[in-house]
Amino acid sequence: MLSPEAEAIRDEALAGVAAASDVAALASVDRTFLGKDGAVGQILASIKDAPPEKRKQLGQEANALKQVIGGAIEERREALRAEALVAERASDGFDPTLPGAPLQRGSLHPVTQVTRELQGIFSSMGYAILDGPEVELDDYNFEALNIPADHPAREMYDTFWCKGDANLLLRTHTSPVQIRALETLEPPFRAIAPGRCFRNETVDASHEHTFHQMEGLVVGEGITVGHLIGAMKTFLREVFRRDLEIRLRPGFFPFVEPGFELDVRCPFCAEKTPRGCSVCKRTTWIELCPCGMVHPRVLAFGGVDAEKYTGFAFGLGLSRLVMLRFGIDDIRHLMGADLRFLEQF
Ligand SMILES: [Zn+2]
Repeated sequence: MLSPEAEAIRDEALAGVAAASDVAALASVDRTFLGKDGAVGQILASIKDAPPEKRKQLGQEANALKQVIGGAIEERREALRAEALVAERASDGFDPTLPGAPLQRGSLHPVTQVTRELQGIFSSMGYAILDGPEVELDDYNFEALNIPADHPAREMYDTFWCKGDANLLLRTHTSPVQIRALETLEPPFRAIAPGRCFRNETVDASHEHTFHQMEGLVVGEGITVGHLIGAMKTFLREVFRRDLEIRLRPGFFPFVEPGFELDVRCPFCAEKTPRGCSVCKRTTWIELCPCGMVHPRVLAFGGVDAEKYTGFAFGLGLSRLVMLRFGIDDIRHLMGADLRFLEQF
């Protein structure tokens, strides 16, 4: 129940709302009644000096007034907006045939773009596309890849370990998917596994705690380094749309034997004389991915008969490839979530 004073305020306010013919007039009614120094505001301010038995009623009244008047103002505001729209459409300047304001469309992240492109290329070569967990077991990330706990190669992987479970970590490479593939797929098979990896790195222009790799694995009878080179050449031709010279240098990775570093002739200074540019650091070669023949122990870990089958694997630096592709000079842009950067793609 409102007191007569409150009823008077309500009626005056509702009359003001009904009479308001534009948004400015409505705002003035809003201020007069609901503003800090408005009629309702004064009721609220008076509560602290009122006798205790009246305080509750004053509070209830103030709230009731707020609701009624606020609701009426909102309703009137909508009506005024609709009226203004009708008036605008009826005026001479309104052309209903003009196209509307264009919708803001987003775009795919450069990593997503390149990932999808590579998936298309490898799919066309008969590769399955696999996925694996980003929180991995030590067994899959290290043990089964021939990197036991005391192996010096573990020091190459600055690892984020999970609290509370010594066996859980954020995968440091996409290679654990190899083991999962060996366990579940029947040779012969070809597969890639793109995804995020994590290392506890000091972050700079070429190192990031979160980065993307694409693992590749081919297992079958009589698979040789020749198949590896062929697959890499085919894939590079698709990506850079021309034949690029490649070279293999010996490289040590515990899960392959023999292991290689695959370099590609820098495509950015191929037409220049003398060759060499900032991308290839004047060497004319770009390190692209570690690769090699799958170590027999890794095949055995995955339950595959290493006497019968051989295979090759590669770990493509997806982040690096994205940077090469788009001429991005700082890896931190990729995970930076800066729209000014992302809108360029
Ligand atoms: Zn170059």
